[in-house]
Amino acid sequence: MRINEYPDEVRTHTALHVLKGAVVKVLGEEAMWTASTYVCGKHGRLTVKFVRKPTPEEIRAIEELTNEKIEEDLPIEVQVLPRDDAEKRYGNVIYDLFPVPQHVRELHIVIVRDIDGSIWNINACNKQHTKSTKYIGRVRIGKVRFRRSKQLLEIPFDIEP
Ligand SMILES: [Zn+2]
Repeated sequence: MRINEYPDEVRTHTALHVLKGAVVKVLGEEAMWTASTYVCGKHGRLTVKFVRKPTPEEIRAIEELTNEKIEEDLPIEVQVLPRDDAEKRYGNVIYDLFPVPQHVRELHIVIVRDIDGSIWNINACNKQHTKSTKYIGRVRIGKVRFRRSKQLLEIPFDIEP
């Protein structure tokens, strides 16, 4: 396995999926809506709807859990499904706050599969991903910011190496 098998932006983008799973695990279902994402090289930022600023312990737990799931080398599955089927099978958990346009009738459902077979993260996403999580490397979370007026939690991170 070579970590540089994928471009940095593919690794950083894939990290968003793993990180999001950890955010929901630690902060709960209230944090399930992604408001926006950003990727530039090895730097990324996940912004989710949330109600408060997390504690430093929670942020540390999110980072640890993310890196644990990367170490476990979870497979990343992509299912190409008619939109109606995908919605019936998985519900609105596949979506983010920004809508997929109605004319899009086929979705790429990206599933990070946990070691026990459960779904770590699921999202309709047509970008490119690594085939498993180990290719991401390591994730280091930066200084998080909670924008109270917008109820948005911004989680910046960098991947290494
Ligand atoms: Zn994706």
